Amino acid sequence: MIGEHNENILSDMLPTYYARQFPQNIFCRWLACGSSPQPLCNRELSFTLADDVYLRYLSISHQKDLQTLLQKKCPHKLDVGAVYNTKPSVGRHDAVVISRELVFDIDLTDYDEIRTCCQEARVCEKCWKFMVIACEIIDKALKDDFGFQSILWVFSGRRGIHCWVSDYEARTLDSPGRGAIADYLCLIVGGENQSKKVHLGNENLHSSIRRALNIIDKYFEQLLQDQEFLATDKLNSFLKLILDDALKSQVETTLKKMQEPSLNKWNTFINIYENYCRENGNVIRKIKYLIEEIKIQYCYPRLDVNVTKGFNHLLKSPFSIHPKTGKVSVVFKSANAKNLKIDEIPTIYSLLDDSVAENNQHETNMKAAVKIFQELVFALEKTEAMRKRSDANTSLDF
Ligand SMILES: [Zn+2]
Repeated sequence: MIGEHNENILSDMLPTYYARQFPQNIFCRWLACGSSPQPLCNRELSFTLADDVYLRYLSISHQKDLQTLLQKKCPHKLDVGAVYNTKPSVGRHDAVVISRELVFDIDLTDYDEIRTCCQEARVCEKCWKFMVIACEIIDKALKDDFGFQSILWVFSGRRGIHCWVSDYEARTLDSPGRGAIADYLCLIVGGENQSKKVHLGNENLHSSIRRALNIIDKYFEQLLQDQEFLATDKLNSFLKLILDDALKSQVETTLKKMQEPSLNKWNTFINIYENYCRENGNVIRKIKYLIEEIKIQYCYPRLDVNVTKGFNHLLKSPFSIHPKTGKVSVVFKSANAKNLKIDEIPTIYSLLDDSVAENNQHETNMKAAVKIFQELVFALEKTEAMRKRSDANTSLDF
């Protein structure tokens, strides 16, 4: 039955899943393209077996190798690593990482201080909106600010999303380059003990921040209603975002008396803020972007920057099964993130058992996900072929 996940059944079902449903051919083509100019066998794959046995530095030369390896080891989880200057293996310590997709990992557990509907591993349609916003903002920044094209979005299997950028320029970025992109996209800073995590200064806002705010504005009111950011028990955290004491005490006095929903409180807060700014011209510089800072703190993507900065971080493969939920890490289009329903994501159980009510719909969704993956790989292969041709021409010129 769907929703009942049993890791013992998983071992029985995985060989069939890998043989019938996992898009082996397209997966190998994606890996090969992303490994080029190194051969496919220089790419590290890693398996997590039943009982958490962990196999690193596996490699394949052809789809046939992958097929054999998957059937022989039956991994409960499949991770993709970096591309080395040589075939990676356990005993080889001189192997050097040459390239790796630029990756992003966004997980709802990093939203636990702001989301109120669920905590930890749980996720629902309400908090999924945080992922929709994150996907839209990062995707747009990668395309418009960096010119990347081969951007793959993948559901992580439980409560988050991953992004893989396969453009040659992204794959060959060095660590400082990855760090610079991660820092550029990171507006929320500070740990648990820091209440206010966003500071925009008082100069004109960078166009990428304006663009992110436009995206946030599409969802902000709905999120306020869903999450009740300003509910009585959350009000103190909200007030801590206002660093101007006089304004803060005005807001506190008024909002603490209000019984209305968060949206009404928010609108009242904006009125108080605007009046305060009109009456106190001398403080305006300090609180110029207070509204924007609050919206960003509540809605802007919370990236796991270490995953982006590191070359060697393994990341769960597209179409791997999440061992705890049985869900497939499906590929999706950024424009469609808002339509992705958690319940409609195929599971290994629903795909392999045609007596399950969701079987038909999940099969269709799986096929659609494979097709999106396929289209991305075809486009990437085309770009790679063009790059190789232009590289060859350049070297002929000398
Ligand atoms: Zn939720």
